Amino acid sequence: MALLPVALIATDRAVAQGKAKKEAVQYQDTPKNGQKCIDCVLFEPPEACKVVEGKIAPEGWCSLFAPKPS
Ligand code: SF4
Repeated sequence: MALLPVALIATDRAVAQGKAKKEAVQYQDTPKNGQKCIDCVLFEPPEACKVVEGKIAPEGWCSLFAPKPS
C-alpha cells in the first residue's frame, strides 16, 4: 500500500502496547462533528476497534479517529 494513513502510523505504539482504554482516547458513543467509527479505518465491524478496547458503537467516536480513504 503506497499511502498508509498517518493515523495508523501514529497509533502503532498504542497497538504494540495493547488497545487503549476508552477514557484515554475520549471515546463517546455518539458522533462528533460528523465523524464516527463506521467511517474510521480503525473500526472493526460490527462493534470493535483495532486500537480501542471494549465494545465500540458504529456511531461512536474517539480522538484517534482516522477517516477512511474515499
Ligand atoms: S473513532 Fe476511535 S474508537 Fe472509533 S473506530 Fe476509530 S479509532 Fe476506533
